[in-house]
Amino acid sequence: MELRQQIIARNEEQSALFCEASERLARAGFRSQHPTEIAVFKCMDGRLDFARITMTPNGVIQPFRNVGGTFNLGWPFLGEVLRGWVDYTVSRGRNRLIIATYHYSSSNPDWGCKGHNHDTKKACNAAHDLARQFEDVFGASTRVTHPIVVGIETDEDALILHGERDPELVYNVAQHLGDTDKEIRGFLRELYPSMLEQTLEDLLQLVVGNQFHVRETRRIGRKPIELDHAERVIAVGRGFDWLHMPNTALIIGPYDHKWPDAVETAGQIVLKNLTLGRIPERDGVLVLPSALSHDPVGSFGWNLGVEKARYLERVTLETLKERVPDLMPYVRHCSGVLEADTRRFHLLDQ
Ligand SMILES: [Zn+2]
Repeated sequence: MELRQQIIARNEEQSALFCEASERLARAGFRSQHPTEIAVFKCMDGRLDFARITMTPNGVIQPFRNVGGTFNLGWPFLGEVLRGWVDYTVSRGRNRLIIATYHYSSSNPDWGCKGHNHDTKKACNAAHDLARQFEDVFGASTRVTHPIVVGIETDEDALILHGERDPELVYNVAQHLGDTDKEIRGFLRELYPSMLEQTLEDLLQLVVGNQFHVRETRRIGRKPIELDHAERVIAVGRGFDWLHMPNTALIIGPYDHKWPDAVETAGQIVLKNLTLGRIPERDGVLVLPSALSHDPVGSFGWNLGVEKARYLERVTLETLKERVPDLMPYVRHCSGVLEADTRRFHLLDQ
């Protein structure tokens, strides 16, 4: 099956699963037990699937992606999306946990973050800058919105939690695989003295899930190819939770006016994957522009999504043509709007 068909089939399968009764109940059950709304700000790197590595049901964590996990709350489109998310959480009477992440590989620096030229310190600092910006915007006297910094070590998908007062104070899940809930709770309290009780309990759930996932990763072992880049899909826009295919797609926000630069970076990474033979030439490369719509099909909100997907497609293809021309012979594309309630990707007329 060609890549485009594979991805469409993947969406159909994931959408059916997302809508299935037991999945809906699992999500609702998790939400009622863990009411804190969680947003994760992360790199576009295709290996970072926060829901998977914390064993959290799909659709619970709100992801935001950009090159290197670098964001600025002054960016116009990010501000708009963030405001929508915060309004939603407030309408539900829920508090917020904001996780600013960076990533690295402990076995090979080249497998680290390309968005920061494999400089982990720089990537980590960017995450701290973002967390501080969240504090400036949302305030810190009452931690109803609590930003924290978390590293992701991609060899084992282990989380490294940084203290809110002392960033050098860390809890690396890979070094605490035998800790009990009570012990983890104690460490979290040390890291986050000002964290609200419920937020801490909901963060604990993520740590316990990650502990389980890391043990599982060690048990099965992973091949080096799976640790390095092997992405062949350039996904642009929002609503890609259904992809759930580690190391397959680079996902671009796009949240600021320089988003075509991120498209170029993604294009270069995928071209390198092709030239190094990490991905098969015959399958090609897929450009996947998507808008996310919470509105019904055919409404003006939906139609705005259609126009957005068209715009993303046009600019993405123009950018790749100009800046990464060697990639063009391999590029196929399919654009669409993701229906938020069902996660069904509705293709635009080609
Ligand atoms: Zn990265």
